[in-house]
Amino acid sequence: MKRISILGSTGSVGTQTLEVIATFPDRFQVVGLAGKSEVELIREQVERWHPEVVALMETPAADELRRRLGRKGVKVLSGEEGIVEVAKYEGADLVLSAIVGSPSLIPTLEAIRSGKTIALASKEGVVMTGRLLMEEAKRSGVDILPVDSEPNAIFQCLRGEDERKVRRLILTASGGPFYNFSESQLASITPAQALRHPTWKMGKKITIDSATLMNKGLEVIEAHNFFDIDISQIEVVIHPQAKVHSMVEFVDGSIMAILGITDMKVPIQHALTYPERIANKLPSLDLTESSPLEFKKPDLEKFPCLKYAYEAGKVGGTMPAVLNAANEVAVEAFLNGKIGFLDIAGVSRKVMAGHSIIRKPHLNDIKEADTWARETAKRNLSRC
Ligand code: MG
Repeated sequence: MKRISILGSTGSVGTQTLEVIATFPDRFQVVGLAGKSEVELIREQVERWHPEVVALMETPAADELRRRLGRKGVKVLSGEEGIVEVAKYEGADLVLSAIVGSPSLIPTLEAIRSGKTIALASKEGVVMTGRLLMEEAKRSGVDILPVDSEPNAIFQCLRGEDERKVRRLILTASGGPFYNFSESQLASITPAQALRHPTWKMGKKITIDSATLMNKGLEVIEAHNFFDIDISQIEVVIHPQAKVHSMVEFVDGSIMAILGITDMKVPIQHALTYPERIANKLPSLDLTESSPLEFKKPDLEKFPCLKYAYEAGKVGGTMPAVLNAANEVAVEAFLNGKIGFLDIAGVSRKVMAGHSIIRKPHLNDIKEADTWARETAKRNLSRC
């Protein structure tokens, strides 16, 4: 029995993780759950999975959950300290980290320090901190297993290979719903339109990031930090069918790719069962139905977020954290109807331009850069 805690259990990856776990009742036990504020959903999850500890980020929501659960023998915690307690909970072997955005950083770090195997869906922590999370993992002797489909594919391609023999990592991007839109069409996109992603079923933040290509940009920085490979060796190709999940080219010109159906349950299961492979009942990819498989160069002028991410990744230091924070503020403002779709990139660019970079930051410098970028982004929203 692998004992699992899920940080972000009420989100898209969290709920799909519980679907995977439900198909293997004799392999996994859920011992911890953590969410933000979704009282009713997490109450259902507690009744179904009987975890030993549960936390909600928002204290009034945690109080309400405690009331609704009554005397169920589960510890209900709240706030960041509560989430961190679930992350460190001694009863867990593996922590699946799927909290949206930068709030994932500290709980993930604490889970690593507690020696848990990490199944990592949240990319922002690795984006923000350079090699810091990876070095902590090395020091604590823990594995970090990528859940996101692209880094998961690269991880699988690199297994058993010499990482020094890599020529390129090739990240695929579906391109999102607006890839063929003109600039004027892009300017008038509404949040409702942007939330309809054509291929992947995902949460709101990552769906908008997919539409701006910022998600791919963050994945470039994530791959750079995670696999310790130069930014110049990481390439992005638009692949609308989303059947090739990413590729690795080796120095001899051989390219390895991972293909599969467009279903997050595949990489989630891979991370949960690693290093084993377990048979499941998911459908096979029908290659003849999927053809043709297309690959195109991304348009960096129309989707500048990807360009900014390359720039931030290249300069490194505190810049990726700044870009990430500015983007989080901008995406929220877009979802609330305060700025237009194209302004998301504009806000990120302005905040990056005003940042005095710290080259070799400690965790505190990263937190300060994050706070500064959020405040600066909020000030810039009114000028959009
Ligand atoms: Mg992805």
